Amino acid sequence: MDLEIPFVVYYFAIAVLILIFTYMIIQVQKRYKKEGEELKNNSISKLESYNRSICNDCGNKVNYETMNYCPNCQNQLRVDCTSCNNKTIKSLKYCSSCSEKI
Ligand SMILES: [Zn+2]
Ligand SMILES: [Zn+2]
Repeated sequence: MDLEIPFVVYYFAIAVLILIFTYMIIQVQKRYKKEGEELKNNSISKLESYNRSICNDCGNKVNYETMNYCPNCQNQLRVDCTSCNNKTIKSLKYCSSCSEKI
């Protein structure tokens, strides 16, 4: 009986180490997942994609001044303003011609 106690402690220590290791792996995976989601959110930020002249759907380089649709994914880039009927940027809040809310 005296000999069994160290073995129990030994196995218990290994079990705890495995648990800690598993916990660490889960934490690291969570962090990477979170970073990935933040990156994804950044890449589809509409104002950001307008400022960088890229499609907010597929990342293709587009020209918001001349293109109505992204030629790569058919994402609509410009719409007719309901107030002045001029073309305006779909992803922005206000019309670029008359400043009315779209
Ligand atoms: Zn696109
Ligand atoms: Zn307008």
